[in-house]
Amino acid sequence: MLQCRDIPDRANAYIDREGSMASLAAVALHLTACTNCRRYMRGLRAVRRLAAASFRAESPDAALAALGLGDRSNTEPDQGA
Ligand SMILES: [Zn+2]
Repeated sequence: MLQCRDIPDRANAYIDREGSMASLAAVALHLTACTNCRRYMRGLRAVRRLAAASFRAESPDAALAALGLGDRSNTEPDQGA
């Protein structure tokens, strides 16, 4: 059984479904039993989505929308004109 400290090293491979079936299954088994690592995995997926969106984005709004944080009309652009 994997320990929590083993999860970060395997997390990206798990999300990408890379590595051996045994390794993927071990991570999946740990996630079924560990709330903290499920929370960690959700955070990692969000960071990966943000990173991917930032490469695609033509504007910060597109990146925020990709994370479900769209329409941040109360924020002002950081421009020193
Ligand atoms: Zn854990």
